[in-house]
Amino acid sequence: MIKLIKSAKVYSPTYEGIKDILICGDKIASIEEHIDVNITNVEVKIIDGKDKIVFPGFIDSHVHILGGGGEGSFKTRTPEIQLSTIVRAGVTSIVGCLGTDGVARSLKSLVAKAKALKEEGVSCYVYTGSYDIPLRTIYGEIKEDLMLIEEIIGVGEVAISDHRASAPTKYELAKIAAQARVGGMLAGKSGITNIHLGDSMNKLDMLFEIVKEFDIPIYQFLPTHINRNEYLFNDGIRYAKEGGLVDFTTSTIPLFLEEGEVKCSKALRIMLENGVNVENITFSSDGQGSLPIFDSEGNYEGVKVGDSTSLFEEVKDAILEENIPIETAIKVITSNPAKNLKLHNKGGLEAGMDADIVMVDKNTLEIDTVIAMGKIMMSNKEILVKGLFE
Ligand code: ZN
Repeated sequence: MIKLIKSAKVYSPTYEGIKDILICGDKIASIEEHIDVNITNVEVKIIDGKDKIVFPGFIDSHVHILGGGGEGSFKTRTPEIQLSTIVRAGVTSIVGCLGTDGVARSLKSLVAKAKALKEEGVSCYVYTGSYDIPLRTIYGEIKEDLMLIEEIIGVGEVAISDHRASAPTKYELAKIAAQARVGGMLAGKSGITNIHLGDSMNKLDMLFEIVKEFDIPIYQFLPTHINRNEYLFNDGIRYAKEGGLVDFTTSTIPLFLEEGEVKCSKALRIMLENGVNVENITFSSDGQGSLPIFDSEGNYEGVKVGDSTSLFEEVKDAILEENIPIETAIKVITSNPAKNLKLHNKGGLEAGMDADIVMVDKNTLEIDTVIAMGKIMMSNKEILVKGLFE
């Protein structure tokens, strides 16, 4: 079916003006000031874009699609993600990973869940590997996973600087990143290594050492949770100014913010004020991940679940509360993750790219319409496509 969005303010993510967008099948066919479709016997669905802003579909590069956690024993394992949660968040491309538990949750299940989400309509990718080293893989080698399994685009999340990490050495981590990089080259994928950072005072030390001592480009690492406390965040500014990528986690609870977590919208403003290039910054939700609460001795006290809808909420706050220009803020969940993850048809609005589109109200920035691979998943704030068991 052909769809035509009429007269919307288009951010590609650069501001393009008021435009019409023609969608044919799962691709954007054309973006022009005026598009008229004169065609008989074919249904053309017109979508009114007046008073709306159109963005590329959002990319969430760190989600526990299978559920995560378990830090407070088995009953605290968090549930799998459902399609409607992803759609409500405006996310059209999602990257799944295992978490703290790489025993009872497996990479095979992760790939199967990604395939299920793809069948349901969104684009889904996964990271091979695990929190712990030795890394879990499917074929026994990172390179093989990257080359032979379509959905696998990188490695992660591998934990460092955390009391839950497996105490990896820099040599072990460098080997992983090197294998992921070459596997990615051979498969035409990013081969990026997504690194979980905890609250340890070692912060980003290991990544600084690796990029200094080994021939691994700094952009092969995608360290996440950089905003989780002030000292890690400040180290993140230094790291990003040296060319490193930094990813902030949008899911949070009031307690974490009270304890010193830097709210993403504010974190973005501070990084920009410190001269960090916006291209080096991304947000991800850590959706369905556990947000475990530990006391000062590391004992478990309670758990909450990460929420994908926080992804755009933080971008919205960056625009509305921190006065960051729309076209700058929106990059952190569109073109920037697309570039880091080498998702060439994602993260932008251009003829020939995938028809992944989010339409929001011009003033409130509330999500109104979500189109994934040309299919309308949400319209007038109502979810039209749900998962099979929802
Ligand atoms: Zn993590």
